[in-house]
Amino acid sequence: MEDKCLRCGKCCHFYLNGEIKRCRHLVDTEDGKTTCSVYPTRLGRILGFDIRHRLKIQCSMRTQAHWDYPDCPYNDGRPLWTGVDSKKGQIPRRNK
Ligand code: SF4
Ligand code: SF4
Repeated sequence: MEDKCLRCGKCCHFYLNGEIKRCRHLVDTEDGKTTCSVYPTRLGRILGFDIRHRLKIQCSMRTQAHWDYPDCPYNDGRPLWTGVDSKKGQIPRRNK
């Protein structure tokens, strides 16, 4: 499959215990985009545990996401994720 990812990092954010979490493996790059520090072994990694829903949050294929993300080329009509600033199309960057 052609890689259409814009490396915005929006799909590496998730709800955890009522808060929006940024994956700890998401890295900001010099060009203003993002990358994954564990990309070759990302799939299936446990990123957190949601106590309320007794649910493990795991990294999965983009096509398995429950959401569409603002401006993501892989969107296919799922509910739009609003956990990031969809007006500006920006995500919170990690504090240096
Ligand atoms: S939301 Fe889409 S464009 Fe952004 S990082 Fe995820 S797959 Fe790539
Ligand atoms: S582990 Fe998964 S969710 Fe975390 S930065 Fe890498 S690709 Fe994104």
